[in-house]
Amino acid sequence: MATLTFLGNDSGFGLKNNSAYFEKDNELFIIDCGFTVFNEVKNKFDFSKYKCINLIITHLHNDHAGSLSQLILYLWFIYKIKTTVISNCVHIKEYLDITGTPPESYEIKKDLENLKFIKTQHTNYLDAYGFIMDIDNNKILYTGDTANLDSFNPYLDNINELYIDVSKFGGAHIKIDDILDTLKRLKSKGIEIIPMHMDDKEYIMKLIDNLY
Ligand SMILES: [Zn+2]
Ligand SMILES: [Zn+2]
Repeated sequence: MATLTFLGNDSGFGLKNNSAYFEKDNELFIIDCGFTVFNEVKNKFDFSKYKCINLIITHLHNDHAGSLSQLILYLWFIYKIKTTVISNCVHIKEYLDITGTPPESYEIKKDLENLKFIKTQHTNYLDAYGFIMDIDNNKILYTGDTANLDSFNPYLDNINELYIDVSKFGGAHIKIDDILDTLKRLKSKGIEIIPMHMDDKEYIMKLIDNLY
């Protein structure tokens, strides 16, 4: 069973922004915080029961960071919780400053002991990252938004779960038809393939379900 639970797995123009979460050692980790995510999480979690709330931010497109400040403010003013933001984005501090997020309401970390960010090729207009992470002896690779798998190639064969940005049309995202052979190879090695950020779910799921 996949380690991450999705709050949404639509592409940027879809109904629910791509975002996932997991719990570990009494801490909550939410991956990306797009403009639809605040309303997804607001009543879903009892935030007060966690030792720490961690928001992993892959990049600053609105469908990944559009309600980041909102969630930090909510946790700060309603729950008196100081959020941990885990991100390598060069403008993350600036972004939180210009959206009026009080500096005392969050702490930025560039990495974690069991998480390594990997820079992706997504768009020329901002820096974007995926990551590899060990969660309860499962090695997961989460591509974030990316146009290809190039920067992940050294890691692909040594993981248990692959969370991959796939698109019917390609462009700033991986065109699924271009990587079917790679996905087949990984699946045959027992790696679980979890598609995300989907623009045409019917088209993509049909291909994923028929990998062999
Ligand atoms: Zn996106
Ligand atoms: Zn993006």
